[in-house]
Amino acid sequence: MDRATALTEAFLASLAPEDARMVNLRQAVEEVAQDVITVEKNNPDWAAARVLRRLVEPDRVISFGVTWVDDAGDVQLNRGWRVQASNAIGPYKGGLRFHPAVTLDDLRFLAFEQCFKNALTALPLGGAKGGSDFDPTGRSDAEIMRFCQAFMHQLAPHIGPDRDVPAGDINVGAREIGYLFGAWRQSAGIYAGALTGKAPSYGGSHIRTEATGYGLIYFVQAMLERLHISLDGQRVAISGKGNVAIHAARKAIQEGAQVVTLSDTSGTLYAPDGLDHDAVDWVSQRKAEGGDISTPPAAFGATFCEGTQPWTQEADIALPCATQNEIDETAAQSLVDNGVRLVAEGANMPTTKDGLRVLRKAKVTYAPGKAANAGGVAVSGLEMSQMSHRRFMSAQEVDSALRTLMADIHDRVADEGQGRNGVDYARGANLAGYRRLAKAITAQGVI
Ligand code: NDP
Repeated sequence: MDRATALTEAFLASLAPEDARMVNLRQAVEEVAQDVITVEKNNPDWAAARVLRRLVEPDRVISFGVTWVDDAGDVQLNRGWRVQASNAIGPYKGGLRFHPAVTLDDLRFLAFEQCFKNALTALPLGGAKGGSDFDPTGRSDAEIMRFCQAFMHQLAPHIGPDRDVPAGDINVGAREIGYLFGAWRQSAGIYAGALTGKAPSYGGSHIRTEATGYGLIYFVQAMLERLHISLDGQRVAISGKGNVAIHAARKAIQEGAQVVTLSDTSGTLYAPDGLDHDAVDWVSQRKAEGGDISTPPAAFGATFCEGTQPWTQEADIALPCATQNEIDETAAQSLVDNGVRLVAEGANMPTTKDGLRVLRKAKVTYAPGKAANAGGVAVSGLEMSQMSHRRFMSAQEVDSALRTLMADIHDRVADEGQGRNGVDYARGANLAGYRRLAKAITAQGVI
């Protein structure tokens, strides 16, 4: 066993038993620890400050009940959480997720990852995540509004523009952010940037909705540039049909790639000659209507493969953009067998530890979500500064700033991850994020 693995095992054994039982948190911590633990041990100040251990322990976890009334007049109960992981480099920042399967384990791992992702942007953004086990499926607009208001009623005392600035995530898009912001503004009695992902008509930034997906493609282009390959003509398999997947697909098509798949929980839409903008618009419309993608119009040249993932189709590049742990060992082997040479994560932690081992063995170039999907939070950072200065950028200015931010994140990560056998982006992202956090945490003393 090498030194990093031995130290990582000892570190995991030192976690609180209830944390060690959180499988997603443990997976995320293990991946980071494996890359950074020897760096910490070799730096007496960082080791003495116990930087990594302090990052695993969130500053606080706020847990609350959400009581609201449905359209039938019945009282409904849900659970809500906000995990404020670290504000060492800026106000707590991270999305809100509404999904019936959400657990505190998910939010702990996402908040931990968010600290590193936000550090990579070089912007002043701390790490947090939140959400609820609320299931929006089949709920009316009025029910969504009442739920968002009840959720914010509980969350409002804990957030604010210099304290904690939530954004969207799974099932929390522009509509939900609007209702959440309206409820926060009413409760706080002031107008300020306590949430990002707002519409430009009331203090939001252009391109925020598109930012994660567009940023993912800009990151992939930076990766390909190092390999002297153009995105033009590449076959790209994308999973998901939500915010990240749709905007990644649109940007990839715009840049000349062939997007051969999109998917949802019902199955995969496969177009051997590539989906066009009309097909992507149709998928996006189906998502907005709460429908599946099983009946594509014949003109799209696409077939629906029920119950399958996109990873069984031939492609050069794979962009998992749906959810965590969607590429396990079998899926990773399938990607390799189908010719995929590059995987970049639009979703958070979509690749399992076993999946990653398969990709590494096959020498697939792999970029973790904390670097490749940082475009969303980066534009959220721009939204916060636009709101404070009351000076707003045009869509072109934000898009061009996003391209530069993603290229800078790429270079930061590639510099740290450069080794004898090329760039290890996962290691580079963990190390670059860790170093920034470690410097800030040790500079500020034991608090
Ligand atoms: P959305 O809610 O907009 O979309 C999620 C999509 O993924 C849905 O279409 C859903 O399908 C699909 N999906 C969920 N689980 C599965 C599954 N097991 N198999 C197949 N498809 C599945 O979410 P986002 O696009 O906002 O987020 C997607 C990922 O990106 C998440 O991991 C999120 O944390 C991450 N992310 C998002 C950011 C953002 O700015 N929004 C920023 C950074 C990361 P269905 O329609 O059937 O429910």
